[in-house]
Amino acid sequence: MTRLHLFDLDGTLLHRSAAPVEISRQLGLDHEITELERDFVTRRIDSRTYAQRVHGLWTGLTERHVAAAFDGAPWLRRIRDTWAEIRNRGEYCAVISLSPLFFVERLRAWGAHAAYGSLFPRVPFTEPVDPAGILTPAAKVEIADLLCAHFGLTRADCVAYGDSLSDADLFDSVPISVAVNADQHVAALATHSYTGQDLWDAYELVHRAR
Ligand SMILES: [Mg+2]
Repeated sequence: MTRLHLFDLDGTLLHRSAAPVEISRQLGLDHEITELERDFVTRRIDSRTYAQRVHGLWTGLTERHVAAAFDGAPWLRRIRDTWAEIRNRGEYCAVISLSPLFFVERLRAWGAHAAYGSLFPRVPFTEPVDPAGILTPAAKVEIADLLCAHFGLTRADCVAYGDSLSDADLFDSVPISVAVNADQHVAALATHSYTGQDLWDAYELVHRAR
């Protein structure tokens, strides 16, 4: 059986952090992003409002900041090893994140077959953010379906890795899911649960269960 492994980014591949937090830190906006994250996590604002506000914060953002945020982020260990193993088995791995595509797409260089994220204007920003390009949690399932079609697979072949309620729809639509560093509520929605900082160990839970 060929599988498609679908990885969330924020809180999953990134340990207790998120791409916008790492980017904002590079700009000295720690306080501002903490407030914004809190509004998003408590669902006071949706992903489109979040994107518009974060776009407003990042007026001084350059490619250099994005690269520094990516390089300095608290990644789980052995992401590249795990994806190389998946590729060697003839399986597929993809990242689906609500975070900016200009950050998420850098993971293709680490071995992801595909990387999906929210579409922001080019950095440095000279254009407004288009709400239509910002992904929602529901879009994660739509993108999973697109990827299945692309690789000649179905939802029955998918494994989802995620940490939060924004992964709940995806967990519901696939047979195998791994809650990564998730709270008990989210872990209860998944078939496996992993706590730690090594992606290989999370992947092994699925591999061993075969
Ligand atoms: Mg997440």
